[in-house]
Amino acid sequence: MDVAKRMALLLGTGILLGASPSCVQGEPLEKVKNGQTGSLVSLEDYVRLAKEYESLITGEEPAQIPVGRLIVSSQKENEARVASIASQAKEGLWHTFYVIGKNTVPNGKVIARWYGDEAVYANLLEDVIWEGEDCYYISRMGLKKESSGEDCAHIWEKSREQEAGCLLKGISQVLCSKCGADREIIKPPLGHLDGDGDSICDRCQKRAFEQTLDSVVKASLNGESLTFTCIDEDFQGGMLYLADQTVSLEQFGGYGMVAYGDSLVYRYFRDGFQNGFSIKKGLLPVQTGESGLTAYAMSLSKAEYEMYGDRIAGDAFLLRDHQEDSVWAVDEKGDFHLQNPGQTELGIRPAVVLAKPDPGTVEPIHWNLGELQAVPLDGNEYLFRCIDQNYSGGALFLCESVIPADYGSGYRLEQLEDGSHGYVFAPGPFGEFGEGNDYKYSNIHAWLEKQEIFNTMPVKIGSDYAFTGSSPEGARSGFDSNSLSAHYIGSQQLNARLFILSVDEALNYKEHLWRFEGEDEENPETQASAYAKGYWLRSPGGNSEEFQTGYAYVVDLVNGNLHPAAVRAEGGTGEEKQDQTTVYGIRPAFVMPQD
Ligand SMILES: [Zn+2]
Repeated sequence: MDVAKRMALLLGTGILLGASPSCVQGEPLEKVKNGQTGSLVSLEDYVRLAKEYESLITGEEPAQIPVGRLIVSSQKENEARVASIASQAKEGLWHTFYVIGKNTVPNGKVIARWYGDEAVYANLLEDVIWEGEDCYYISRMGLKKESSGEDCAHIWEKSREQEAGCLLKGISQVLCSKCGADREIIKPPLGHLDGDGDSICDRCQKRAFEQTLDSVVKASLNGESLTFTCIDEDFQGGMLYLADQTVSLEQFGGYGMVAYGDSLVYRYFRDGFQNGFSIKKGLLPVQTGESGLTAYAMSLSKAEYEMYGDRIAGDAFLLRDHQEDSVWAVDEKGDFHLQNPGQTELGIRPAVVLAKPDPGTVEPIHWNLGELQAVPLDGNEYLFRCIDQNYSGGALFLCESVIPADYGSGYRLEQLEDGSHGYVFAPGPFGEFGEGNDYKYSNIHAWLEKQEIFNTMPVKIGSDYAFTGSSPEGARSGFDSNSLSAHYIGSQQLNARLFILSVDEALNYKEHLWRFEGEDEENPETQASAYAKGYWLRSPGGNSEEFQTGYAYVVDLVNGNLHPAAVRAEGGTGEEKQDQTTVYGIRPAFVMPQD
């Protein structure tokens, strides 16, 4: 439906008629809630019922709905009433509403006239009630508007989802449950994840993290925590790690025979170790040098200790060489001693061979303009849209929502100066732009630097220009770039993976500045709030002579323009949060490799 028609419908609202409000007091009807509408006898009952249905469409409290809206006493009023409620009905859903005609029979012809094929409606004369001289025709109407997709406040539901992997992208297809519009959202590769520090990816089980000499991995053996330090980067095709702690001989049922190949220690390393050890993928079999014995762990020999001793710290432990009835051990200083394996207090420090790491390669992705991807940022998922297919050799993505300035702020219980406890306001990480207007030293940059989005590229974002001027209020993207002037302030070195747009970029991508949530229409009302009346740009306000002005640029969502704003909160309201938080949020951007 075109806008003119819609406006006409909206303007046709609000014709109030004089019915006595005294006849409609009381609780909503139970039978209405149950969806049973029969056996209503009085006009009051129908008015209540009409209000119940009306509230489902308009969202008003039934008690707030004026009776006069429901009752019409001419065909003109009937049309206005029907047109008004029809304009408020959501697309794609069946709605029921009542029109009560006082001495006139309601009809829904206006629906056919306004909507044509785009709506279906039904009209049932449900009852006729006489009150004195007046006849009330109770008409129950149904309406379903076809969805055009336009102007639908979409409610997205996932229709198909393929999760992203460490290196492969996933895809999420969503469908609007109201209008049936569909949308495809890329889930970019997640990168490898090692939450437990064992150098094995928690997701794909590959040994994907760079390891070097002295790298330490965490593991456990039969539930007992151990750390292992890399002592040889190239050992039997893998990397050799030695436990930093000793495992007591009890774990093996004692040492057993002194000859290593016959010992209980070796048997355990051969037969039991793999089950008890937490790292399974990436653990390679190891051959002990002189004998060719194969197992999943080993005890070091004297010769190996001599080779790697410089890298080995920590407690004394048994080695695998023996002499007569004794087993060689090495102490904290690196001196060798013979130990009686039946009596020694010393334990074993297992050595293991782990595969050489391979991070793999990220699936190349060709990003198209307008393409959406869902990306985790600080634990929340945000939608980003490709707004440039070729930005510094990659694809530029802009967040499709504004993160408000009070993000992460809150009141914390703290001890006050007088010793009592009270709630103190703790501002969020970017409650203010920064101390000054230099983005490089801003709170926003500091916070974004702490965030990580996999596979983003570092790009040059130094602020070389300050700006003066504002675009006209209300113009949104329809402004002339000449309303702002750039002034060179010197070359600034700054690289970042996550950043906010500059004024230059805002001018380049102005059609995106007031568009959000993947929509093609400008919809700043979806983002604007007390602490997101706009969002920061990274460019300072000022000129070549004077650019440390305390002002940086914002995209104003409420007034629909670009203008400089004070980087600190104004203060002076006496309300802690307001005094320490600006009204401007942030809209992060990043660049991903373009295939
Ligand atoms: Zn992985």
